[in-house]
Order: sequence, then C-alpha cells, then structure tokens
Amino acid sequence: MKKSLQIGSAGGKKSPQPPNTIMADSEDKNSSNVSGKFYVDSQCIDCDLCRETAPNNFGRAEDEGYSYVLKQPVNDEETAQCREAMEGCPVEAIGDDGDD
Ligand code: SF4
Repeated sequence: MKKSLQIGSAGGKKSPQPPNTIMADSEDKNSSNVSGKFYVDSQCIDCDLCRETAPNNFGRAEDEGYSYVLKQPVNDEETAQCREAMEGCPVEAIGDDGDD
C-alpha cells in the first residue's frame, strides 16, 4: 500500500504541489466503486451530472448520497461518456487511474 509522506527537508527535491488544484484522490475512493480505471472519491456532492452523462457507468449510493462507478466502460462510447463526466464534475471527484 502506498503512503504519502510530507517531509519538509529530507534532503531530496520537493515535488511541486499546485496550491489550488483539486483532483480526485485514488486513495480516497468511495467504497462502492467497482475496481478499474474510473472511480469517484469522497469529494462527490451528489450533483447527478455524471449519472446523467454516463448513465451506464455511474450510479448513486442512495443511503450515503454520493455517486460511484457501477460499471467500467466497455466500449468507446462509454469511455467518452465517462471522460465527459470526469471533465464536467464540479468538484473533480471523478478520477481516471489510466490503464486498468
Ligand atoms: S458529477 Fe461529480 S459531484 Fe456530481 S454526482 Fe458525479 S461525482 Fe458527484
């Protein structure tokens, strides 16, 4: 398991961290996501955009009130819809880990 260490002056180079960048966090995925490249993290505000944009791939956890990936895309159309949802998510809660 990967751990993030935040060490100020350990002698190595500091990684640049843009202060105002919000990105989905692959270590903070909602537990309901199916495994695979796309995921939703805990920043989701349940706005419904992804479920409208990619209805085959995103579902709603009714009790918790957030979206999750219920199925990874299996064709180009679904992949495009997932990408569109990721780009449109207002809080950047959707991530893409790349290869699955
Ligand atoms: S678009 Fe983003 S904030 Fe809206 S429901 Fe989907 S994951 Fe949540």
